[in-house]
Amino acid sequence: MLTRIRQSLQTKLVLAFIAVLLIPSFITAFYNLTRTSEVLVESARLNQLQLATVRALNVENLLTSANEDVLFLNQTPQIRRYTNNTSSLALLDMSRLLQVFLDRSIDRYASICILNASGLEVLCLRNQDGAVIELPASALVNQVGQTYFNQAITMTSIAGRQAPVYISDIELEATNGEIATPYNPIIRYSTLLQGDNGTIAGVLVLTALADPIIESLESEDPQQTTILLDKDGYYLLAPDPDQRFGRVLGTDNSLTAQKPDDADMILSQRQGALFGSSDSPDTFQVFQRIRPTGQSTIQWTVIYQQPLSSLLAPVADNQRVTALITLVALAVAVGAALVVTSGIVRPLKSLANAAQSISQGKARIALPPVTTRDEVGAMVEAFTTMVDRVEARTNELQQSNAVIEATLGEMEVKNSELKIANAQVRENARLKSEFMSTMSHELRTPLNAMLGFTGIMLEGMGGEIDQDARHMVQRIQSNSQRLLLLINDILDIAKIEAGRMELVHAPFSPHDAAQMWQSQLEVLAQTKHLRFTVDVDPNMPEVVVSDRDRLTQVVANLVSNAVKFTESGEVAVKVAAQPEGWMIQVSDTGIGIPPHALNYIFDEFRQVDGTSRRTYGGSGLGLAIVRNICQMMRGRVTVTSELGKGSIFTVMLPLETPALLAQAV
Ligand code: ADP
Repeated sequence: MLTRIRQSLQTKLVLAFIAVLLIPSFITAFYNLTRTSEVLVESARLNQLQLATVRALNVENLLTSANEDVLFLNQTPQIRRYTNNTSSLALLDMSRLLQVFLDRSIDRYASICILNASGLEVLCLRNQDGAVIELPASALVNQVGQTYFNQAITMTSIAGRQAPVYISDIELEATNGEIATPYNPIIRYSTLLQGDNGTIAGVLVLTALADPIIESLESEDPQQTTILLDKDGYYLLAPDPDQRFGRVLGTDNSLTAQKPDDADMILSQRQGALFGSSDSPDTFQVFQRIRPTGQSTIQWTVIYQQPLSSLLAPVADNQRVTALITLVALAVAVGAALVVTSGIVRPLKSLANAAQSISQGKARIALPPVTTRDEVGAMVEAFTTMVDRVEARTNELQQSNAVIEATLGEMEVKNSELKIANAQVRENARLKSEFMSTMSHELRTPLNAMLGFTGIMLEGMGGEIDQDARHMVQRIQSNSQRLLLLINDILDIAKIEAGRMELVHAPFSPHDAAQMWQSQLEVLAQTKHLRFTVDVDPNMPEVVVSDRDRLTQVVANLVSNAVKFTESGEVAVKVAAQPEGWMIQVSDTGIGIPPHALNYIFDEFRQVDGTSRRTYGGSGLGLAIVRNICQMMRGRVTVTSELGKGSIFTVMLPLETPALLAQAV
């Protein structure tokens, strides 16, 4: 019986098809994406670092160029004159020079001031709303407490060398200590004004606008945030506007100074990259130190920060495209697999259905015509041939079945007829035996009376009878005796056939039995002057278990035949042990038996031929009784004979002794 198809072969094939197609695609895509990400990140890191370096260099140049401007101004004849002779004329000359200078670089500088040796401003030019104005005398103040003044005034120039320039860190413009909003970051450059003879004339202070410098740092990329840290790591520019210039504002101006969490790490390196900082884990940062050569005040670090997602945007695009291609490939694969597998699976399905229907004994399902020359086509063809043969065979079987059934019916009829006949035969046999034993019995009673009365007559007890009458009475007596013997034999045969003769097995001595046979049967031989011997093999056991009376009957029958058919010579009885049992052999030197008669002389009422009865008398029952008794004793009787020389009858019996019987138990 075929099992129901739960897992379709086609589904399995399609899945296998898809797996074969998609697994390598997935591996390749995964490898490509990983590799692309790595390459992207690395190239982004290098690009950004390069860009940061360029911008830092640019800023360093800007910062240093202001420095050079200060040194240049210090060396101009107008300022040299002023420092050697601080006359009002020289001050005027210097004012003009500075006016021209500030006017030309109005987008870079906020103001320029000359302070005397006591810190008092003697000349101040200011860039106000795109125009240069000179502050009136009333607006001039003493800056003696300012770092930029104190630093510059203590810088003594070594002879023959340029005076050094002090550069302040970023400051926010303020009026009377109050920081102006919006914040205006500035950087002050100050240098000592010293006369040729070493006199200290004052300090020149150039205030540069920090915004253009900072702006030149800022990235144009909208994804990128520019962060600027001062030399201690505090925010100058921060992602959160409230954190800007915190350090510069100081506690007085409300905002507190803040640093990024990774500030220490960032400050410890000149440049580097960070994938995910402690503040913003989803970002990518590159940082670069800004340190103009030859001065120590300004030491900034610029950081460019961008979301990792924006960095990996091309990978995400790539992923989408890959997914799309995979989906299309999947659809194509499914389609192709369906087309290819249905060519294989459809005939197989029909085959399975046909096989199932045949196995369930249903009508045959038509199979699809063979269109392909491949293995499936060959299978369909072979299956069709097989089904044809099975059908033909089934038809033949059905026909022979019908024949067998008919024969069986007939046999049953015959059988019951036979049974009836058998029962009749058994009944007939029973009736026959019953009839024979009844008849024998009924015949024996009058015969015994006849023998009794003839005996009395011959004894002369019934009165004297003459010679002729005596002769007739003698004939009556001898015929009655023969008749009695015959009836006894018939009675025995009838008993045997009716199954009523029973053997009495008992232990007896074969030697004693032989002696008894000698004395009982010797008389028969003597009447014909024949020699008669009974011989027992000394190897014979002392005691055997058998029916002694029936054996005596067998020996008597054989010996009386031997005597009857022997005219001269001897009759010998031999008892001997044999390998397969023991035997009683009766031999004579009589007329012998023709070979053809050896087959039937043991049958009932059979003699060698009709003359035998006439010459020797007898009924033909003696040997039949011998054979039946032997069979009942699980033995057999055989005969060998030569015409004119004599016959040998051998009775072969199983040897049973009390010892053997005890062993068997
Ligand atoms: P019966 O002797 O009464 O005729 P049996 O059955 O004893 O019947 O013997 C059958 C026949 O076998 C005999 O008639 C005889 O022809 C033959 N027969 C038996 N014993 C001998 C023998 N010893 N020698 C020759 N013929 C024998």
